[in-house]
Amino acid sequence: MKALRNISIRTKLVLLASAAVLCALVMSSTGIIVNDIQMIRAATIEQLEVQARMMEFNSDGVLAFRDDEAAEDLLRSMSLQPAVEVACLLDTDNKVFAAYVKNEGEPLDLPPKLVEGAHVMPDGCIEIVMPVREDDGAEEPAGTLFIRANTDNIRNHITAQIRFIVLVSLASLLAAVTITTFLQNAISRPILRLSEAAQVITREEDYSIRVTRDSEDELGVLYHSFNQMLDALKSTHDEMASQAEKLAKEIGVRKRAEADLMVAKEAAEASNRAKSEFLANMSHEIRTPLTGILGFADVLLAGGDDGDVAKRIDYLSTIQASGKHLLTVINDILDLSKIESGRVEFEHEACHPDRIVDDVLRVLQVKADEKGLQLSVRWDTKVPRLIYTDQSRVRQALINLIGNSIKFTSKGSVEVVGRFVDYQGRPQIEYDVIDTGIGIMEAQLEKIFDPFVQADTSVTRRFGGTGLGLAITRKIARGLGGDLTAVSEVGDGSTFTMRIDCGDVSGIPFITPSEELRKRPTEIRRPAPRQVSTKINVLLVEDGDTNRKLIKLLLERAGAKVTTAEHGAIGVELALKRSFNVILMDMQMPVMDGYTAARRLRDEGLTLPIIALTAHTMTGDREKCLDAGCTDYLTKPINAELMFAAIERAMQSAAEEETVDAQADTAQ
Ligand code: ADP
Repeated sequence: MKALRNISIRTKLVLLASAAVLCALVMSSTGIIVNDIQMIRAATIEQLEVQARMMEFNSDGVLAFRDDEAAEDLLRSMSLQPAVEVACLLDTDNKVFAAYVKNEGEPLDLPPKLVEGAHVMPDGCIEIVMPVREDDGAEEPAGTLFIRANTDNIRNHITAQIRFIVLVSLASLLAAVTITTFLQNAISRPILRLSEAAQVITREEDYSIRVTRDSEDELGVLYHSFNQMLDALKSTHDEMASQAEKLAKEIGVRKRAEADLMVAKEAAEASNRAKSEFLANMSHEIRTPLTGILGFADVLLAGGDDGDVAKRIDYLSTIQASGKHLLTVINDILDLSKIESGRVEFEHEACHPDRIVDDVLRVLQVKADEKGLQLSVRWDTKVPRLIYTDQSRVRQALINLIGNSIKFTSKGSVEVVGRFVDYQGRPQIEYDVIDTGIGIMEAQLEKIFDPFVQADTSVTRRFGGTGLGLAITRKIARGLGGDLTAVSEVGDGSTFTMRIDCGDVSGIPFITPSEELRKRPTEIRRPAPRQVSTKINVLLVEDGDTNRKLIKLLLERAGAKVTTAEHGAIGVELALKRSFNVILMDMQMPVMDGYTAARRLRDEGLTLPIIALTAHTMTGDREKCLDAGCTDYLTKPINAELMFAAIERAMQSAAEEETVDAQADTAQ
């Protein structure tokens, strides 16, 4: 049964048709054969009975006269019937009187008891037992006629019939198989199409495939149901796909958000760490020189110099050196934070790329000479005669780089090599600063650009420095559209390469710098600032006791007469009451600040020079002071030389104005 279940529909259909045909044929043939047997047998019996009756009719007197010959002639007539095997006449005592045996010599083999009538025997023979009456009206029979006939005719007929039926069956089977094969296409092909469609859908997950219904039978209904199922499947699939897509998007968004959050967190942590590190470093860098300043000041106050002038000068020199270092640190920190916070606006002024190098080399030549180092510049290519950049920042960066090279080189040379390059389509100037100094270890190369990082603290202790120079220089280079990189070999020296944008140099001639250098006029050095005139009257408005005391001391030692005021309000009052040549005005003060005071004085019509003193050194601070009415601007801590120069300038311009005014008066 299982084997039957697994065979194809096509075979099943053929088997079904064949079985049906066979069944029908077997049943109908059996019916026909049974019917034929009965009919033939009945006809045979009837024939034998007719024969027997004729014999009985002709046997008149044969038994009465015991006429053997006549009896045997009569019985021999039975040979006309090929089916009759035995025919005999028995007398009233059931003794054989005359007999006919078809196959001579065979025994008669009569049944023990003779019952009148026709009998079908178990072996298929037919036996006829008929009483023989001499007289038609006689009551008692004169004997008995016995006939036995075989049924070979029936067997022969049935055999022929069966042969015929088998032939017909085979032909029917063939016809059935042919018809079924032809018909099964109508059933199995649509099913196969359905199965193929299902396979394609499963393989390609394409739920838009549909099977075309081309009949209205059960298969048509199956197709329709299949298509309906696909509709449902497609909408479920589409829904699931859109849900999955939504989910994937949500997961993507969440993952991105998580990643962003992680990045932001890491950035925040890194910036926090950097800030803490920066503050710790800054605190250390400030405290170190302060220790020297305060410590030696304490020693001096406690009379630690023992009245020895040499010792006092030594301690005071240490205090001065520490103070200068502290100032460098603070200036560098401010500079770095200004650049980092984007508060520095880089200028784009026209300047000579070669002259900037020359100026820097001129400044640093003294240091190189002190160490016996050869300091030189070389140009690899022609360069634009003018470029557009912030020359003071380029100068600052080159001073840092060349200054470092001189600092970290004990013998050999420091060479600057310049060239014009096209960097990713942008015209740039590249400066290499090459030294034959101590070099930097590979592991330190990137770190040295971080604030406060020094390659080797023992070296730094020897050479000094804040560890901020390269951080500032790289920021400057990047701010000017380029970058700063370094390569180095410990013991052999280092090469620092700084690139900066040239700006738009189209139309500007390219020159070979060395030639230009020869043609260039020698720089006119500015005269050193003179001491202030003894006659000048200065009003110093400053709230800080120390600064007031120090500036007053410096001015008086230079020969000036100094009046002091603790805040702007007193300053304004004094300035309006008395006559001064110049006012030095601190800008951050209690009661009235310098900006208000300067404005008030200008409002009152006062024209004398006001020089602003401020610790604010950010971009725009100078403009703020000038806007308030000041004529010049000095930053704290006060540099005596710069202060005298500023006073000098102020005096000169005031004198020039007076001359102009006097000339105007005369002209009138
Ligand atoms: P510093 O004020 O200490 O010079 P910088 O930021 O300018 O600070 O330099 C950082 C560190 O890089 C220096 O302390 C030094 O260790 C190393 N360095 C800089 N330039 C050179 C150089 N030309 N040769 C060797 N080491 C250098």
